Amino acid sequence: MKISPKPYRVGIIGAGPAGATLAALLAKEGVDAVFFDDGKRPEMVVGESLIPRLVTVFRRMGIEDEVAKLGTYKPGVTWIFDENDALELSFTAMRGVLPTYAYNVPRKPFDDLVHETAVKSGARFIPCTVKLETGRTERGELVPRLAAETLALVPDWNGRQPDLLVDASGRRRLFAKLLGISARLGQRKDVSHFAHYENCVMPKPAGQTIITRLKHGWSWRIPLLHALSIGVVVDKEHAKKYGSTPEEQLEAMIDQNKPLAEAGMNRRRITPVTTYANYQLISDQGHGEGWVSVGDAYGFVDPMLSPGLCMAMTSAEMLADAIAQNRPEQWDVAFQDYLAWFRENLKAWQELVDIFYGGQIFALQRTGTDMARRFPGKISMVMQRHFEKNISGMAGGGLTTHPYSRNLLRFMTRFGIYGHEPADFAIA
Ligand SMILES: Cc1cc2nc3c(=O)[nH]c(=O)nc-3n(C[C@H](O)[C@H](O)[C@H](O)COP(=O)(O)OP(=O)(O)OC[C@H]3O[C@@H](n4cnc5c(N)ncnc54)[C@H](O)[C@@H]3O)c2cc1C
Repeated sequence: MKISPKPYRVGIIGAGPAGATLAALLAKEGVDAVFFDDGKRPEMVVGESLIPRLVTVFRRMGIEDEVAKLGTYKPGVTWIFDENDALELSFTAMRGVLPTYAYNVPRKPFDDLVHETAVKSGARFIPCTVKLETGRTERGELVPRLAAETLALVPDWNGRQPDLLVDASGRRRLFAKLLGISARLGQRKDVSHFAHYENCVMPKPAGQTIITRLKHGWSWRIPLLHALSIGVVVDKEHAKKYGSTPEEQLEAMIDQNKPLAEAGMNRRRITPVTTYANYQLISDQGHGEGWVSVGDAYGFVDPMLSPGLCMAMTSAEMLADAIAQNRPEQWDVAFQDYLAWFRENLKAWQELVDIFYGGQIFALQRTGTDMARRFPGKISMVMQRHFEKNISGMAGGGLTTHPYSRNLLRFMTRFGIYGHEPADFAIA
């Protein structure tokens, strides 16, 4: 079917997963989409562990086969919450809700793929550091504008501002900073170090992502095609006890945790150690007249359950639909709906991640194991499966905001824990 061009000019600042996905989907709808990037992404970028909801985005963009080639098939996630016990989630539990698998991906080739898809779809890419300035609308509202030197890079816009400017600048939150928009911050203030290693014992089943609880934090093991990505996310102050450099801290934390040390006994680091700050943030405002935010630029919830790329790319999907399926005079209402959806998702992810940090999920797992031992049989098995389906569906991104799943989890973490203290499994 031929798409009739839509005469809107959309300028997207940032070509990470959110910006490039938005550019691709808008261009496919015939929108004049121009996306800019300053090319300052480091060689090693976090965000290698993906969840099943993203597979539906890959299918919509027509890139699943390519993702499968550069990535690793991921059947689920295991949380090791003490040296003798683990919670293993298989994505097959979410059959009928979502694809029953996801992928782990090295970020550079993955980001290049999404970028190329946007360009092939007809979006125009301009490599540059976007310069912004503020302007005022007729109603006196402070809004972002492209500075003349950036506008000049799109000659056929003839010096006119685009109909819509999108902030996809990730954690730099360009518009929020320019306009002085505040944000709600979560409690965690961690540092994260990660690197790729060879000669490690790879997780089982093949492709499984492993999260291990550490003192004052947690670690990830993400199996990629030719390496194991190992990362730690720990309280900033606590990290200093392990050494004075990121390398010393990462290597010491691996050596001092039994499951990590065993997996990495003969490890050889093949990349530099890259460091990030971990935080939790939701902006107080995500749109105004002629502008809107997408991906991390609007909000980001802790990475323990890997919602980052899912939120970046599904928010791009939601925003693309809001832009393309409405006329500009309807955008204000459409963007309010889009941001209500975004906030609700971030809130639901935060609620889910909190019961991992708070230890309730692991106390619940222990209670379930005790019950199955004391009352073996079909009823406990059916209850266990039902609960697993809902938890996997939430962690897979399909049931994260589903009222039944959320209420079930709230009820179980409040009334379903016997004989175990969540605090014993909490991450301090
Ligand atoms: C420790 C840690 C671990 C994580 N692990 C995972 C994980 O396992 N799985 C997962 O799904 N997510 C993970 N994430 C989150 C994930 O990395 C992000 O959510 C995701 O990359 C956000 O994508 P984005 O497109 O919104 O922003 P970004 O990827 O940050 O892209 C923004 C782009 O905008 C560009 N830009 C900024 N300013 C300008 C300017 N003035 N002009 C031009 N270009 C500009 C930047 O250079 C960049 O290319 C993790 C995050 C952290 C902190």
